[in-house]
Amino acid sequence: MWVQSAVFLCLLVLGTQGQDRASLHKSSGRSGRCQYTFTVDSPVESSCQSSRVGPEAENLSARLTLLEAVVSRVLGAEVLTEAAKEVADIQKTKRLTEDKEQLDRQVQDLRRRVEELTMEAEKLRDNPCPLLHGNPTDGFGGIRGSGSVTNGAFQEMKAEVSELPAPVKIQENIHNNRGCGELASVGEPETHQKADGITGKYGMWFQDPEATGRPYGPDTVWRINAVGKDIKELYVYENMEQLRRGLPMKVVVLPESVESTGATVYRGSLYYQRRRSPTLLRFDLGSEKLVVRRDLPQSGFHGKFPYSWGGYTDIDLAVDEQGLWAIYSTDKSKGAIVLSRLDPGTLEVTRSWETNIRKNKVANAFMICGRLYTVASYIANTTTVNYAFDTASGKSKMLDVPFHNRYRYNSMIDYNHAKKKLYSWDNFHMVTYDVKLRGL
Ligand code: CA
Repeated sequence: MWVQSAVFLCLLVLGTQGQDRASLHKSSGRSGRCQYTFTVDSPVESSCQSSRVGPEAENLSARLTLLEAVVSRVLGAEVLTEAAKEVADIQKTKRLTEDKEQLDRQVQDLRRRVEELTMEAEKLRDNPCPLLHGNPTDGFGGIRGSGSVTNGAFQEMKAEVSELPAPVKIQENIHNNRGCGELASVGEPETHQKADGITGKYGMWFQDPEATGRPYGPDTVWRINAVGKDIKELYVYENMEQLRRGLPMKVVVLPESVESTGATVYRGSLYYQRRRSPTLLRFDLGSEKLVVRRDLPQSGFHGKFPYSWGGYTDIDLAVDEQGLWAIYSTDKSKGAIVLSRLDPGTLEVTRSWETNIRKNKVANAFMICGRLYTVASYIANTTTVNYAFDTASGKSKMLDVPFHNRYRYNSMIDYNHAKKKLYSWDNFHMVTYDVKLRGL
């Protein structure tokens, strides 16, 4: 009875907290006595082990979830970065491939164009130039030309065109004046010195073919670097060997600035064109004084009638077996070369010829035995002496004598009749060419 009362009291004490979860179990004990077992859930959850998670666990779980999300984003970003790099590399490779293909196509187009131009040049070379006309019996004739060009590149192209020769048979018309004859061939260039400064890209150099020996003889070498606005320095070398060694014996400062690359040395004097003028000067090399000053009548100057390469090469002075010459052009001749023979003492014109060779279509000119010869191109590696004008007959003809611009920028060509050589200034280099005259 007291047991039942105790159970009842317990139920009252626990009240509503464990009403639904309390149970009473009755059984026989080992001693044979009746045994009551009362079971009730604890109202305090924290006192019992349970599978349910508490707030701390939930908080921990939430933090773990957040951490997992962060890690996931980081790992995902790395993956994305790697993927982006791969995509960028692929795109870069693709662009490079496309650029290479485009360049390959351009190279092929250029090669094709070069082949076409080569074939065109060969074709034109095999046919007489349609500009030639004249008397076919003597091989000389007028050479028509018209228009003028001022653009440097265009001039160069014109020079290349005018290089095309016509196969004209050169007659054995030999002048026996001091071993004279027609130009038969020009040898390969021999290099003697290379200018070491930018002022030497173009210039002029000489040996006096009729040196007086007072004080300079025929071995003395004269040199002028022609790049600049105020060219006055004349370098003097004892001989070719000293030129090769780069050891001038003196430097003469000229009283007036030089224009063009058309100066020359003859009988102990330097003849040159005064800057920005048609004035010719005779400078005595012995006394180092200007002894004659005279304008070349009607001559263009300072870029009005230059050779194809420009360089204010309006007046080109030359010497040959017959004396001193001026090669230039005038308004009256409309750009065609005018050739005048000069008195070397007074610089007066003693006689003039008007040719049909356009000055701006040729690269340079020189005189041999009273004949004017022109070179087609100053820049082509292989070009020709393409025209000749004979002062004896007053007629011109086309030629096809090979000429080699080894350094591809030839700014000066002069003949020295004592040495039988052409003196030339080709892109910093001072070179000579042996010439052979037909009939010698
Ligand atoms: Ca010349």
